[in-house]
Amino acid sequence: MRVLLVEDDRALAQGIRVALRGEGYTLDWVADGAEAEHALQCERFDLVLLDLGLPRRDGLAVLRSMRSQAQGNVPVLILTARDAVADRVAGLDAGADDYLVKPVDLDELKARIRALLRRCQGRAQPRLEYAGVSLDPATQQVSYQGTPVTVTPMEYQLLHQLLARPGVVVTRERLSNALYGWQESGPGNTLEVLIHNLRKKLHSGLIRTVRGVGYLVEQQP
Ligand code: CA
Repeated sequence: MRVLLVEDDRALAQGIRVALRGEGYTLDWVADGAEAEHALQCERFDLVLLDLGLPRRDGLAVLRSMRSQAQGNVPVLILTARDAVADRVAGLDAGADDYLVKPVDLDELKARIRALLRRCQGRAQPRLEYAGVSLDPATQQVSYQGTPVTVTPMEYQLLHQLLARPGVVVTRERLSNALYGWQESGPGNTLEVLIHNLRKKLHSGLIRTVRGVGYLVEQQP
C-alpha cells in the first residue's frame, strides 16, 4: 500500500513515517501543497494523509483539486489542529473521508488507515481470506490452511495486494508502485524474490505468474 503524507511539520512527518513503514506501508512524504499536487498528478497512491495548514498551497485547495480530477477517488484522511472544528467540517465537505486531530496518536492513525483502506475496497470484514490463505491487517498475521506463516513486512504487503483482488491479475506496475513508491527495490526484495518466498512459505501453486503482465492468486483446485 502506497501512502502519500503531506505534512510540513518535520517531527510529526518523521514519526508517521517510522510508524507506517514499520507496518510495511510504502510512505512517500512531501512538505508543501504544491509538491503534493504535483505528486498526485504524476503518481498513483492508495491513500493520502493530508495536513490542512501547508506552505505554498493549503490542504483544502489540494483536496478540492484532487476531487475534481477524473481519478480523484483516493481515500484522504486529513490531519487538523484540535481547535479547528471549522477546518474539519470544510475538509469533510471538500471530500475527505476521515480526519484525525493533532497531536496524532500513531496507533489510532494506523487503525483509521486500516479502516479506510478496508472501506474503499468494499469490505466490512477486516480479514482477507482466499484460497486457503488468511491475512489479518490488524495484526499483520498470515496463515495458510489454519497454520500461521511468518512473512516479512514486504511479503505481507505483496500478499495483501494480491488477496485484495482475488482471482484478478494485479499488474507488475501496480505492485511495484504499492511496494516501493519512490524508493528503488533492493536486490533482496524484487518482486521475483518476494513471490518466490511467498510460494515457498505458502504453496507453490498459489500465485500464478502472467508473463509480461503480473501475478494473481488462484483458488486451489
Ligand atoms: Ca501544518
